[in-house]
Amino acid sequence: MTRASRRAADADTPRHFGVLAEAMRDGDTERMAIAAQRHLSGIENLGARRMRTCCMARQCPGRAGTIAGAEAGLGQSGWNSRRRGQHWRKSPQSRHRIPRPVRNAVAAAEAPRPLPEWVLTPRSVTMKYLVIPVTPFEQNCTLIWCTETMQGAFVDPGGDLERLTDAASRQGVAIEKILLTHGHIDHAGGAGELAARLDVPIEGPQREESFWIDQLVAQSRSFGFPPARPFIPDRWLEDGDTVTVGKEILSVLHTPGHTPGHVVFFHAASKLALVGDVLFAGSIGRTDFPRGSHQALIDSIRQKLWPLGNDVQFISGHGPMSTFGTERRSNPFVGDNA
Ligand SMILES: [Zn+2]
Repeated sequence: MTRASRRAADADTPRHFGVLAEAMRDGDTERMAIAAQRHLSGIENLGARRMRTCCMARQCPGRAGTIAGAEAGLGQSGWNSRRRGQHWRKSPQSRHRIPRPVRNAVAAAEAPRPLPEWVLTPRSVTMKYLVIPVTPFEQNCTLIWCTETMQGAFVDPGGDLERLTDAASRQGVAIEKILLTHGHIDHAGGAGELAARLDVPIEGPQREESFWIDQLVAQSRSFGFPPARPFIPDRWLEDGDTVTVGKEILSVLHTPGHTPGHVVFFHAASKLALVGDVLFAGSIGRTDFPRGSHQALIDSIRQKLWPLGNDVQFISGHGPMSTFGTERRSNPFVGDNA
């Protein structure tokens, strides 16, 4: 893990402390469990170096309990973070004597958790979808499938492959291909491995994206991801192409800006777009990467996406769903009044 990504994970941690403390004040066990889980996955991301330092690390669960407990007015029972190191010599039970609500929340977070599944689309009886956030970046991998043939595809399987294949088998979906919007690690990091395991082809993105796909191994190293298995897509896509999933047909739009070969998949029958990192609810994709272009991104959204219709629902690479109409009304970057 690079120093920069370690710093980013550090910077993210206090947010979870705050959420945890707030949830404790409200006695909201569900939110406590989620905050604790986020906090723990932060620890995993930081890797062994941090875990070894335990109480010295800001990410130590004991310390989290102390801070959250103090904020919630529960005191710092049994453990003084200033006398660090002392608890190493105590029994495991006394080691992290943190407030019971936090301990319970952490235990709940460590228990096997159900997949955070999103809605099944009400707009189409023939194509369904399931959004499965994957990787520490909570990237929205989407399983889409044709209900007539029960054949499906993963769009942007960035990682957590067991969760993805479990979800497909629970839905009774046979995966026939992988679709990629772009070549960033959180979207494409698991594609090579998954394609090999399932013996299915990879379709997309547009050819310019070889710039990022060729760097996947380096990307996985610099973001602390498991090593990505290199691949070359079986089919590059161009603007105006179509892809099929069972009997369903999606059209392809080339939407550069975030990355040069980014594509969007549009299912006209259910007015659903899978937009990757082009557009988010209330925001747009980053353009500060090499070969990113702010103007190209704005043009992609306004000239390619808006004409599809205000009532189009879209699934972004991160965060909640929205509609093009909502974004045209209120998005501060690409709204009609922006
Ligand atoms: Zn991206």
